[in-house]
Amino acid sequence: MPDTNTFPAEAESASAAAGLMAMPGNIDPMPVPRPTLVEGVTPREDGRTDLLGLPKKRIAELFESAGLDAKAAKLRAKQVYHWLYHRGVTDFDAMTDIAKTMRPWLAERYVVGRPEIVEAQHSSDGTRKWLLRTADAHDFEMVFIPDAGRGTLCVSSQVGCTLNCRFCHTGTMRLVRNLTVGEIVGQVMLARDALGEWPKSAQDTRFAGTSGLDDDDGEGDYTSEGRLLTNIVMMGMGEPLYNFDNVRDALKLVMDGDGLALSKRRITLSTSGVIPQMARCGEEIGVNLAVSLHAVTKDVRDEIVPINKKYGIEDLLQACADYPRASNARRITFEYVMLRDKNDSDADARELVRLLRKYDLPAKVNLIPFNPWPGAPYECSTPERIRAFSEIVFQGGISAPVRTPRGRDIDAACGQLKTAAEKKSRAEIDRLLAEKDAAMLAAAE
Ligand code: SF4
Repeated sequence: MPDTNTFPAEAESASAAAGLMAMPGNIDPMPVPRPTLVEGVTPREDGRTDLLGLPKKRIAELFESAGLDAKAAKLRAKQVYHWLYHRGVTDFDAMTDIAKTMRPWLAERYVVGRPEIVEAQHSSDGTRKWLLRTADAHDFEMVFIPDAGRGTLCVSSQVGCTLNCRFCHTGTMRLVRNLTVGEIVGQVMLARDALGEWPKSAQDTRFAGTSGLDDDDGEGDYTSEGRLLTNIVMMGMGEPLYNFDNVRDALKLVMDGDGLALSKRRITLSTSGVIPQMARCGEEIGVNLAVSLHAVTKDVRDEIVPINKKYGIEDLLQACADYPRASNARRITFEYVMLRDKNDSDADARELVRLLRKYDLPAKVNLIPFNPWPGAPYECSTPERIRAFSEIVFQGGISAPVRTPRGRDIDAACGQLKTAAEKKSRAEIDRLLAEKDAAMLAAAE
């Protein structure tokens, strides 16, 4: 999902053959390259297994297959799981309730990883953005948005995206692959590392002085519960419902009371409208739903959210009406990016109200001023137009706040940091080639 710079602050409230696999649910048989993975396990060159992303039961199975008897494997898995997800510990030596003799056994066979940080940016408004890298060298992004009383982490589900929404910078990138469970939950854990939110005794100090993660800049006051990271939105790169199983399993680790222990009420999954997976999302994950609506007529939505050609507006709204657990207390968020002279007329606003009322939806609308990126085919609506649009929707009895753009002084719109890094590495390659040419010329003289 796009526009990670303009978070709904109310999100809670803001083919194995040839290395290809089919998209989940056989709804879009689009091949997605991915590395060969042992089920749920991130591959490593040193032969050790990364436990990040594994549930307790799978960890116990690994321990048992490595030689522990079933009872010991279960006990060790429980201990390691607690240290891993609840305490944020990455070093087996720091797992103090595990026998000292046992720790080297673990360290020889396993690691607890994190996504690699390529670049970290910190906006003057407190927004932070990280460019992260998978073990097989694919880059993706994660953003943290502090706000009054909450801190929202925007998590990516894929490297790139297949859906080509025209207003979205990530949509200009090809889909490389789905992120694994470990790469998804690893974003949340990395953010907790950065914010120092693990229990104090277990804080990981690996990052002190590096990569912008050594943070102590007074932002610790902005949540009522003393927590910095209070909410998660699956709204980063990718369409989460096209990576359903991994997103579900990662969010289960995030929601597990023995794990990261974040309430499902504080997690929002944003979809462009993959109707066949929406009910599963409600039933199997149970998190809040956000929908990238962005237009109220077929022609305009076909243009800016092309999945609309497959799953039209009326069917999408019916799927929202059927979404398990939606209620006035847990309203569905409709995201609407404001594009000048495209989707921002009074008639559009009135049609939005009509549609949401027709389906009797417990809805709120987030109006998102468009944040243009180089080469973007649209402009942002004027502030006056956005206000007028909002007013019409409000008068229709539906909450329609205008979101404040965040992090505009850093590479703000979703996908920009990755593009900037790629440009940088291309420039670096050009520089190295020029140096090589110069050396060859000098040698030939
Ligand atoms: S579905 Fe993909 S292209 Fe569409 S808004 Fe989300 S990330 Fe961008």
